[in-house]
Parts: sequence; structure tokens; C-alpha cells
Amino acid sequence: MNLPTTRRTLILAYRSYTLTTNVYNQRTMIKPRPRIAVVKFASCDGCQLTLLDCEDELLAIADRVEFAHFAEASSDLQEGPYDIAIVEGSICTEEDSHRIRQLRTNSRNLITIGACATAGGIQALRNFGLHEDFKRTVYAQPSFINSLAESTPIALHVQVDFELRGCPVDKRQLLEVILAFASGRRPKTSSESVCQPCKRRGNVCVVVTQKIPCLGPVTQAGCGAICPAFDRGCYACFGPSTSPNMSSLSKSILEPNLDPAQASLLLQSFHAASPPFRDESIRLWQLSKQSQPPTNLNATLETQRNDEQTHNS
Ligand code: SF4
Ligand code: SF4
Ligand code: SF4
Repeated sequence: MNLPTTRRTLILAYRSYTLTTNVYNQRTMIKPRPRIAVVKFASCDGCQLTLLDCEDELLAIADRVEFAHFAEASSDLQEGPYDIAIVEGSICTEEDSHRIRQLRTNSRNLITIGACATAGGIQALRNFGLHEDFKRTVYAQPSFINSLAESTPIALHVQVDFELRGCPVDKRQLLEVILAFASGRRPKTSSESVCQPCKRRGNVCVVVTQKIPCLGPVTQAGCGAICPAFDRGCYACFGPSTSPNMSSLSKSILEPNLDPAQASLLLQSFHAASPPFRDESIRLWQLSKQSQPPTNLNATLETQRNDEQTHNS
């Protein structure tokens, strides 16, 4: 027997085995699951409920992510840092604005979900009026109310890594965003307007056939064009699409079917404070013969625009 040759063979076999084993171990090494926090600000909880509504899908992703802080689902609220913070709701108090800055510091990625978090929500209607008047009208002791004069989106306060629209958000899109961030890739969400899925779905256009005003041409897709499928116009709960042509919408759909005040109010709902809807609704309101904008409106808008410019610069 040629011993040196046998030894060399054994050494090569051992090296090959250890190399293969190391590669196997590296491949099968269990990585820590990304830690997720779901955090609420001023909101109705509907977007968090969309996440809970995922049920079967949540079980399927349970081994890929860890919900470390989710008050709607569990009283076991773990401290950060978090890999992903999912934020619902708008900023309406000084305490909110302090809390969101702390959360940002404590989170590697921060995602906002829903109209409240991405645009200020329905509660941003107060941005169009006098805060003190609202407090006096609603509360017996307005001096006890310690809220800000405006409801503002999260992105006006801290850097946001991704915004998911909707009121509430769509559960398929929400899962896609969570899984994308958990695996370190960009989420695949649609950038088209509601008209495109509406046509693909085979809906008959309610504007053309019934003269029902529809905001589909300027609204971000994501819902599957539910409302036109049930013979009603879209009222833009997913907010403005990319570069919406608001003046064309007004000329071709709103003004022929509504008086300017009604058209203005149609734009003042979940995304009333989104700049394209806000500016066009103000223009239509000023066209209206029925009423004048509140006296502080221009000052409020000026403040919001300055905030946006500061944020974007
Ligand atoms: S976006 Fe709509 S569903 Fe979501 S929290 Fe706000 S009001 Fe509720
Ligand atoms: S019904 Fe609305 S969303 Fe559908 S095609 Fe007509 S305008 Fe577009
Ligand atoms: S059609 Fe418009 S209003 Fe209806 S769910 Fe979709 S985005 Fe919201």
C-alpha cells in the first residue's frame, strides 16, 4: 500500500468535507428575524386591523418576522431597537411629535400606512378652519384640550422610508411591503391610477354612462377599483396618483357634473391635506358663489407649504 498517497487522499477528503460542511452551516445558519413594531398615532386603528385581518398570511410569515411591539395584537410590548417600524396615524399633539422622533431614532426602517399617516387623514379637515373655534364648539372645557392646530403626516416630522396609501390600506399591498423590507428589497406596488385596474376589471365607466363624478383618474391604484365595480364613483381613499392632472379632472369630470362647492367638498375627505387635492379644492371653493373660505385659510396653507418646502429641501 502506498501510505503517502493514502494520507494525501484522506487529507483532501477531510478538507473537502469541512469545506462542504462550512458552506452548509453558513447556508443553514438561522438568522435573527427582523423585529417589527406597529405603532399608532391619531387614527381609527383600521389600518392595523387590516394587518390582523391577514390571519392565514400572518401565520405563513411568522417564521420570517417577529412582531416585537404590536399593542393591537399583544400586551407583550418589547423595547426597540426595531428593524421595521410600521406607523399608523397622524401627528396631532406635541407628545405625538416627540414620540415619532424617538421611534425614528429607534428604527432602521420606518413605513407609514394609511391616509392618516401619509396625508394627515380625515382629521386634517381641521387644517382648513379655526382650531380654537372647533375646540369651543366641541368641548365644554376647551382649555383642557392640548392638541396642535393641524393634523400632519408623519413625513413632515421625520424621514420615512416608504408610504403605503389607502383608508384602510390594502392587505395584499401591506404584506408585500412587510416582506419586501424584511428581505431587504424595494416593495413592488402599483404607481398607476384607479382607471387602469378599473378598465382591466371590465367595469363600465360611471362617468361616461351615468354622469357620476369619479376621482379615479387622479387616484392611486391599489384597491382593485372596488367602487366603480359597484356603480359608484371613486372618492379617492388611496390619495393622489403620481403627478395627477387636477385641472383636467375638474374641467372634464367635476365641473360638468357638480357645482364648484360640491366639487371642492368631494376632494376634501381622507386626503384633504394632500397638496394636489388641497390646492384644487381651495380653487374650486373660491370659485363657488355660495361661501368664502375661512379667514385663516391662506395663512394655514402658507404654513403648510413652508413646512413642505423645508421638509423637501
Ligand atoms: S387611514 Fe383610514 S383606516 Fe387607516 S387609520 Fe386612518 S382613518 Fe383608519
Ligand atoms: S369609472 Fe372612474 S375609475 Fe373607472 S374608468 Fe371611469 S373614471 Fe376611471
Ligand atoms: S375605488 Fe377609490 S374610493 Fe373606492 S376603494 Fe378604490 S380608491 Fe378607495
